[in-house]
Amino acid sequence: MSDLVSDLVSGLAESAAILDVTVPARAPWSAILKRGQTLRLIDLEGQQAVDALFYNADNPTERYSPQDTLLEQGGAYIGLGTQLLSNEGRPLVSVVADSCGRHDTSAGACSCEANTVRFGHHTRYMHACRENFLLELGKYGLGKRDIVGNVNFFMNVPITPAGELAIVDGLSAPGGHVDLRAEMDVLVVFSNCPQVNNPCNGFNPTPIRVLIWDGPRWNEPEMAKVAQGIG
Ligand SMILES: [Zn+2]
Repeated sequence: MSDLVSDLVSGLAESAAILDVTVPARAPWSAILKRGQTLRLIDLEGQQAVDALFYNADNPTERYSPQDTLLEQGGAYIGLGTQLLSNEGRPLVSVVADSCGRHDTSAGACSCEANTVRFGHHTRYMHACRENFLLELGKYGLGKRDIVGNVNFFMNVPITPAGELAIVDGLSAPGGHVDLRAEMDVLVVFSNCPQVNNPCNGFNPTPIRVLIWDGPRWNEPEMAKVAQGIG
């Protein structure tokens, strides 16, 4: 990222944000981002996974596709310059700033069912990201059939050369952030992950903070450079 773009992004003044909320530990959150707006997700205390889904706000059958996103960028992780693509190959949001360096989009969201398989039947009734997604999606007339592959911001899931996944201690430091610019009007749904059976949240779920600014932040040539990963 060029110094120019970096300065512009980091220059977002918190006082100018049109929304500034703290999402409690274990809770869901959602909003519709207008094209050109920037959302900043802050990992307040560090090592907090945030599961995320994205939909075309005008037509939610168009939604985030991990497969299209990874195939198009030719890389296994989400990071600076990544465009999150829809199942129709169109950019939903772009990662325009990132203090963490690497985010997962392969491991999926935790669920009561998966917890039972991975950690034992006594975890069956623990709250999970899938329940958070259902609670939040219901506000928009969406449900189980609309839960697709998600992004796990701040979650460290190394992929081995053999293709195996491992959920290990997070890389995200307290105050770490990722900035997402909306490339269309996008419904954003977060689950502040409640998982306590593996290290994805440091075994201690904590609050996150979300800010939104009106955009665009910079001129179109700079936006294009960031979108192409050459900014
Ligand atoms: Zn989770």
